[in-house]
Amino acid sequence: MSDKSLQRYDRQMRFAPLGEAGQTRLAQGRALVCGCGALGSVVANTLVRAGVGFVRIVDRDFLELNNLQRQVLFDEQDVADGMPKAIAAANKLRQINSAVTIEPVVTDVTHRNVAALAEDVDVIVDGTDNFAVRFLLNDYAVKHGKPWVYGGTIGAEGQTMTILPGETPCLACLLPEAPPPGTTPTCDTAGILGTIVGVIASIEANEALKILSGHSDTVSRKLTVIELWDNRLRQVDVSRLREQSNCRVCRHGQFDWLTGKLGSTSAVLCGRNAVQLSPPEGAAMSLDALTARLAGVGQVTRNQFLLRLSVDDCVLTVFPDGRTIVSGTDNLAAARTLHARYIGS
Ligand SMILES: [Zn+2]
Repeated sequence: MSDKSLQRYDRQMRFAPLGEAGQTRLAQGRALVCGCGALGSVVANTLVRAGVGFVRIVDRDFLELNNLQRQVLFDEQDVADGMPKAIAAANKLRQINSAVTIEPVVTDVTHRNVAALAEDVDVIVDGTDNFAVRFLLNDYAVKHGKPWVYGGTIGAEGQTMTILPGETPCLACLLPEAPPPGTTPTCDTAGILGTIVGVIASIEANEALKILSGHSDTVSRKLTVIELWDNRLRQVDVSRLREQSNCRVCRHGQFDWLTGKLGSTSAVLCGRNAVQLSPPEGAAMSLDALTARLAGVGQVTRNQFLLRLSVDDCVLTVFPDGRTIVSGTDNLAAARTLHARYIGS
């Protein structure tokens, strides 16, 4: 790397623990930001500005106006254009740092594609909004010895923990089972403040920067829990948890999410009054053919990345990977009915 290309990182290289050596390692580092909503957009923004060489941004969703309050990479034009979050994020971040290779992927992370998305990165950072994907990432990370950073927020509260497989406890050590759907608060029920998102995502990004710059030894060994509205900060010592727990993943090597034994391909989306319907393996959708087929059925709009059909008080958004997000209902059966009626299987 030439001196000129390092100039933009001057202020962070002056931070002694990082230095020029750490910066050079960052440039060779590869990160997967899994989910690019509130947490993910802060994480991706931080990693790209810091000069991480390769950042893959995966997100399954498109932008809505009520995202802008906390999803800092996006603007009103992105919403008006109906952009998928991964694409909008990549477009913005390429303008910010052209030296970073940014790879947006518009898809749902499943047991079928997690290896392809994660095998060539050095760290996985959690920007998801659901435990199904987190447990899948955890299974993959522990099985393949890949560091990953868990983070979650709701209301004004958030928590984060860094997992170094084989060294620190994993998410399943901490939380043996994923909470059943409908039992935990969501952005819909408890709301979400942009402030806690910024705090938790910055901690996550900071942990990723330590790992990518060769400072895994300084990674936190604690579960950090922050309640921002009441100014409560708590760090829970989890250093013995791996030995003490009878972990399905670490101790018994049962990767039930990774094998597909656990997890569902269809899901009610957090805080969205929407349902995602996923196709069988390998299915793809020709948006051109579908546009022609839907002529006269309802109001159809489309861009390069998705097609949108407004019909029966719902909006069906169809992606080329075969997924459909049905907005306007949180009822899985109703969403499936609409999908069968207008999109077909
Ligand atoms: Zn474990």
